[in-house]
Amino acid sequence: MIEYELVIGIEIHAQLSTQTKLFCSCPNNFGDIPNQNTCPVCLAHPGTLPVINRTAVEKTVKAGIAFHCEINSFSRFARKNYFYPDLPKGYQISQYESPVCSNGYFEIKGSDGLPKRIRLRRIHIEEDAGKLMHETVKSGSLVDLNRAGTPLMEMVTEPDFSSADEVYDFLVRLRRILRYLNVCDGNMEEGSMRCEPNISIRPKGSTQLGTKIELKNINSFKAAKRGIEFEFRRQILCLDMGEKLCQETRGWDDNKGESFLMRTKEDAHDYRYFPDPDLQPLRIPESLIKQISETMEELPDARKDRLVKVYGLSENDVEVLCSEKTHAEYFEKTAERCNDPKLAANWVMGEVLRVLKNDSNLESFPIQPDRLGMLVSLIKQGKISGTIAKKVFELMLKNPDSPEKIVSERGLSVVGDDDSILKVVQEIIAEFPDQITQYLSGKEKVFGFLIGNAMKKMKGKADPAKLNQMMKDEIEKKKNM
Ligand code: ADP
Ligand code: MG
Ligand code: ZN
Repeated sequence: MIEYELVIGIEIHAQLSTQTKLFCSCPNNFGDIPNQNTCPVCLAHPGTLPVINRTAVEKTVKAGIAFHCEINSFSRFARKNYFYPDLPKGYQISQYESPVCSNGYFEIKGSDGLPKRIRLRRIHIEEDAGKLMHETVKSGSLVDLNRAGTPLMEMVTEPDFSSADEVYDFLVRLRRILRYLNVCDGNMEEGSMRCEPNISIRPKGSTQLGTKIELKNINSFKAAKRGIEFEFRRQILCLDMGEKLCQETRGWDDNKGESFLMRTKEDAHDYRYFPDPDLQPLRIPESLIKQISETMEELPDARKDRLVKVYGLSENDVEVLCSEKTHAEYFEKTAERCNDPKLAANWVMGEVLRVLKNDSNLESFPIQPDRLGMLVSLIKQGKISGTIAKKVFELMLKNPDSPEKIVSERGLSVVGDDDSILKVVQEIIAEFPDQITQYLSGKEKVFGFLIGNAMKKMKGKADPAKLNQMMKDEIEKKKNM
């Protein structure tokens, strides 16, 4: 039996987050009323002319810099000709021989756990097509041209991936970087990032590339992973049965977990690419590249390193906190407010992210860093216990007051006076004579049980340090008796 290995290269389309479309001033908005955002340019009325969107170019250059690409001072737009009802012009304006960026690379975690470089062949700019709506009316389909002419950045990697997990890791990191840079919002439900894996297999150890299959309509990173794993099995099965693989484009049915033949692969010459005579070649001056790289946002890895250095957090903590830029920002503001980074990190990772779940939108979270910082300060100063703080946190989700106010209005402050704590400690000792004997005979675990019961009796409001000390002292006295 021949053993096979996977070879994968991917093409990713990322929607550029710009205010307006690529060649006209229509809004670049998802979810508006169909055909609301259209004008003679994106509807391809005769005689109209495209004007390039500067922000789209700048964001593509920024991504190119982040991925160590050469930024080409000269690039050109080309027409890619094909017919489809969602493409009014009958061609898509894209880039062919001269993309904006070429020859970059990207670091991922390889299958062996070590860092691995994936080469980026190119990044180019192109316009998106409209959208056909097949399910809105009973017979026939409708077309929505709001998306027609919106800006996309297409990235093409070399066939450097050797497993579905590597591709998955790449996509997660890529999305994070594009979000950190405000290049693309990475919203998968809205189709802001779409990827097409090219998949082939070859006998293990061979250096020749096999015949590739391109997988289309993948709408999530998980689907990409499943699709690649399926293709690996399918292609091996074909070869084992003595069939030949031919280059084709296949669709992915995520419900069935199967790929299906869409078409045998078209070649570049089928599109009759030629330079678009309506657009000047794009010239990107050195000064613009310099300006963009000097004003670039901090990248996720740099931020992780800084959080470790500045706040003394662990690798695990920064991994969680830096998964989203907004999380990292929220943490830093909280840490500054309360001056206890470790405690702040625990609260952000524990309570805040628990309530937030998968919704990454911290902007509308009811507890902003300032108030969380105050709450953490209260714990730090010993004014409330951790248990009570959790209660206060829950109240703060619905109540905009400061944590101090909530604590004092509800009488949640720590009980610190020695008399009341001592009284409870003595009660507990009287209540659990067996446990006291066990503790005295060396079973130290019982101590937690005693403290837990004392805390319960004081409704979580005892000053934990004092309670611990007094419990120890009182038991000690018993021992000496
Ligand atoms: P095409 O001209 O058909 O678009 P390209 O050679 O330009 O093909 O490559 C498109 C994508 O397919 C790139 O991401 C590339 O890395 C990948 N690719 C090319 N050949 C293979 C192969 N044999 N196996 C897997 N991926 C491949
Ligand atoms: Mg291709
Ligand atoms: Zn328009």
